[in-house]
Amino acid sequence: MKFIFGIDIGGTSIKIGQFNLVGELLYKFSIPTNTEDSGKHILPDIARAIHELDILESDILGYGFGVPGPVSNNQVIKCVNLNWTEKDIVSEFGELVNNYYIKVGNDANVAALGEITHGSARGHHHAVMITLGTGVGGGIISKGHMIDGVYGAGGEIGHIKVDFDYNFECKCGTKGCLETVASATGIKRIYAHKHNAKYSLNQSYTDISAKQVFEDAMNQDELALEVIDEISEYLGYACHILSLTINPSIFIFGGGVSKAGDFLIERISKAFKKYRFINPDQYEFTVASLGNEAGIFGGYALIKREN
Ligand SMILES: [Zn+2]
Repeated sequence: MKFIFGIDIGGTSIKIGQFNLVGELLYKFSIPTNTEDSGKHILPDIARAIHELDILESDILGYGFGVPGPVSNNQVIKCVNLNWTEKDIVSEFGELVNNYYIKVGNDANVAALGEITHGSARGHHHAVMITLGTGVGGGIISKGHMIDGVYGAGGEIGHIKVDFDYNFECKCGTKGCLETVASATGIKRIYAHKHNAKYSLNQSYTDISAKQVFEDAMNQDELALEVIDEISEYLGYACHILSLTINPSIFIFGGGVSKAGDFLIERISKAFKKYRFINPDQYEFTVASLGNEAGIFGGYALIKREN
């Protein structure tokens, strides 16, 4: 029996999945991410953990990695959370395991790949995944392949400028990115802004979570509904731009904020349809189904799709 490993490297833990060649997840586990010494222990730690499973290297077809940073042509450009600058995983990890069949992608792109092979977008070959958490991540699949681009910025949907009014500052150094308005942080921020304007408060009101804003909106709270409608407009607009650039058949929403489910998805889809270009009713909008396992499934798919 041969195996493929899907490996999702995060800033605090590394998820490792062992798959058979038909894509069944046989075993999964995680190890802590040791980011000390410029992250030089990370790859040896992974190699050691897999070595301990006592599998013959000749029975391992390959390794698919997702990393939290820009990647282009299998080369890591930078991973701030891992203390990595440029990293050649193929050479470094390949040497450790004596197997150079290794593919690497940005974690959000790899997660999108997982969703089209094993998740809620199964069967789609053109897909956009938007992860709504404390930030906004994105992954783009075109003709079954991840789009990473020349500088690894392909799929960085969270930094498309969609807001020209609030101009909240983004961690990328610019203002008005999708992330500043549609992440959990953005939802809190817009709620606070509207709350302060409505009640003429001088002091900033920030004592609310994105989850609470959704709960209030579901209970028909006027201000909370206004906020959710507004962030849905931003997301619908971003989907509109993406529909005219890569023309996917499906938009997949993941991350903590997507737990709001249909309540949010239907609003985004409605906002998107307003732009009516070609067949706006035929695009699918759905919630991601693999949760934090999307990365290891995507890692598997990186290797499998080439075979
Ligand atoms: Zn940004």
